[in-house]
Amino acid sequence: MRAAIGLDDIRQAQERIASSIQRTPLIPSASLSTRCGTPVFLKLENHQTTGSFKLRGATNAVLSLDSEARRHGLVTASTGNHGRALAHAAKVEGVRAVICMSALVPANKVEAVRALGAEVRIVGRSQDDAQDEVERLVREEGLIAVPPFDHAAIIAGQGTLGLEIAEDRPDAELILVPLSGGGLASGVAAAIKSKLPGARVIGVSMARGAAMDESLRAGKPVLVEELETLADSLGGGIGLANQYTFAMCRDLLDGVVLLSEEEIAHGIRHAFSVEDETVEGAGAVGIAALLANKVETRGPTVIVVSGRNIDEAQHRRIVDGTPDRAISAGGRG
Ligand SMILES: *Cc1c(COP(=O)(O)O)cnc(C)c1O
Repeated sequence: MRAAIGLDDIRQAQERIASSIQRTPLIPSASLSTRCGTPVFLKLENHQTTGSFKLRGATNAVLSLDSEARRHGLVTASTGNHGRALAHAAKVEGVRAVICMSALVPANKVEAVRALGAEVRIVGRSQDDAQDEVERLVREEGLIAVPPFDHAAIIAGQGTLGLEIAEDRPDAELILVPLSGGGLASGVAAAIKSKLPGARVIGVSMARGAAMDESLRAGKPVLVEELETLADSLGGGIGLANQYTFAMCRDLLDGVVLLSEEEIAHGIRHAFSVEDETVEGAGAVGIAALLANKVETRGPTVIVVSGRNIDEAQHRRIVDGTPDRAISAGGRG
């Protein structure tokens, strides 16, 4: 276990990446504010370059490399958004990037990474299979691994989102953060707990294969079967040898909320038809948690809308209310 990431790390990341990322808007939601009886705001990382907050951590990681590491090139396993972000950040800096993905990753995400000029390797049916390929490339070809969440520079980069929230809404009482491997939740919670000590930070995951939630319950990182879900960017394990995010989520989060596939679909639909925002499943879970009355709001609430990269046809089916295979499936999709 390594030392947790703190406010100084996040401030340094903010300076380092400032000119490479968007400072995304934080806007009020009239509809959710009325519904909750307290002001509710959306932090729109679906407007971030590459379509998700992952550019923050990836850019911080690339800009933190020494010249030796830059020469070797980068490799990662990713469900899509981290790979896409790393591909973009590496290309801007003229560094080679190899992205390893499982066959469950949607085609639109694979194409997006290729279009950014990165090499894509499709391996196996899970994040763990893709991770084995990363380790092989590190061992045999000397590439530098940049993992999607359990990495100091990644967590500090994602934490810059928390700093922006604290700057824009110093009155925030509750922050809802999508939770998978916990890089986002760890970084945001570290920033929020330093800047706004009275605010609560709650993680939101899909009920189908919530690896961090099960690990927190078990008191240690555990393996969880990866299942198909509308929140595909939240899939995958947290790593049995987790160094940072398990302990940070355990120590900093005020709770975790789990959502059904139908609740997530409702969040995506609400984002589009009421807020006029195209949001992927993982990005809609904070909205969905409020719509499902799964969190008690006690004051100004900020929802991290983490990304927009959803397959277009799937988005249309959800918005039109056509039952989706992943929603109606009782077992593995
Ligand atoms: C990666 C991702 C998450 C979860 O981030 P973690 O750091 O793995 O917890 C949430 N939403 C979107 C859109 C993502 O791409």
